[in-house]
Amino acid sequence: MTRTQTTTCMDEFDPAAQTVEQALANIHALTEPARGIERVGLRDALDRVLARDVHAAMDVPPERNSAMDGYAFAGRDLDPEGGTRLKLTGQSLAGHPFSGTLGAGECIRIMTGAVMPDGADSVVMQERVEIDGDVIVLAPGTGAGENVRLPGQDVCRGDVLLGAGRAINAADIGLLASQGIAEVDVRRRPVVTYFSTGDELRGIGEVLASGQIYDSNRHTLHALLRRLSVEIRDMGVIPDEPQAILQAFRDAMDTSDMVITTGGVSVGDADYVKQTLESLGRIDFWKIAMKPGRPLAFGRLGNALFFGLPGNPVSTMATFILFVRPSLQRLMGAEPREPLTLRARCLNRLRKTPGRTDYQRGILSRDESGRPVVGTTGLQGSHVLSSMSRANALIVIPLEAGDVEEGTEVDVIPLDGLI
Ligand code: AMP
Ligand code: MG
Repeated sequence: MTRTQTTTCMDEFDPAAQTVEQALANIHALTEPARGIERVGLRDALDRVLARDVHAAMDVPPERNSAMDGYAFAGRDLDPEGGTRLKLTGQSLAGHPFSGTLGAGECIRIMTGAVMPDGADSVVMQERVEIDGDVIVLAPGTGAGENVRLPGQDVCRGDVLLGAGRAINAADIGLLASQGIAEVDVRRRPVVTYFSTGDELRGIGEVLASGQIYDSNRHTLHALLRRLSVEIRDMGVIPDEPQAILQAFRDAMDTSDMVITTGGVSVGDADYVKQTLESLGRIDFWKIAMKPGRPLAFGRLGNALFFGLPGNPVSTMATFILFVRPSLQRLMGAEPREPLTLRARCLNRLRKTPGRTDYQRGILSRDESGRPVVGTTGLQGSHVLSSMSRANALIVIPLEAGDVEEGTEVDVIPLDGLI
């Protein structure tokens, strides 16, 4: 079987469509952080969003310590002629400080991170000394005041350690632990409810009759949502019946911060979802100048935000990544971070119609000289989920651009961490 790519006039320029940037700005304007704060233990704070600033409880490092394995001494004992000779009188190991005070002409053995003894202000690394019995001879050129870490060099007591709105990562967990902080106040997890619409959809384990397909979107959505710190509620598949859709929206909206549906927002079979929504809340039906993912419904259902994503599986994913994810981050109380883009040389010629932004599926790698290159996954139909699975990046082709010639530079969004 040969696979061909078809373009329909539906894909062409539409003056009523809004750009991705306009859609994002509209979504941003309507999204506010969900109310509610809870206190969680340090390890449960991963990926949660800080509700308040966390201040440093202490200086880090707390005391002067050595940056090297070597010998601690006083700079004033350095012989200007070179070849300084110092008497070894003790040692300071990590966790076992030297209890005495250094006298004139004395030094101690010291290890990295070990506390500097009183009377010493300098460390010489062990490779720069000679040992002569219990006397240490310093190499010429050894300086005073070197290789000593000062208290508060890393963090000062009272500093804002982590600011409100920060989504806590592994480094932050370590930073909090280094301050002896056992609990933090974080924002409540937003409740996100979703369901699929479509009479053709069946659940895994059911036998498919002609015209029926498995519902994949609900499982994709579940996986995409698990990457974010939200509470997930799955309402299953709702048939294309006005009463059933109305009831599903009523059930979802009162208990959720966000409701997501897939399917039923394009022209044709959209009518039930559209009529129902119009009777319940303030929903806009948007055409977005992008591919995949042109139709999108967005607005409010009572106190919940609503996203009606297109049913085609790749469109569901693209609109989630581009619109739902940043809205959810804001709902979680974090400032949305735009996905990182990088420039890569395109290995293929890509077809593209001016007047919409394309997010084509690509495979990002490096050429022989280590520079980023990206190749297409092939068929770009919004139903071709296998090519989304093969992709590790989206190739962004700007609104006004036409075809991309082989060898030109393009913007790509790596999908690592996003899907
Ligand atoms: P719709 O947006 O409802 O017109 O659906 C567009 C296309 O996506 C149709 O081919 C649907 O069968 C398909 N589709 C809709 N919902 C799902 C789903 N949950 N899982 C897999 N395919 C879907
Ligand atoms: Mg449908």
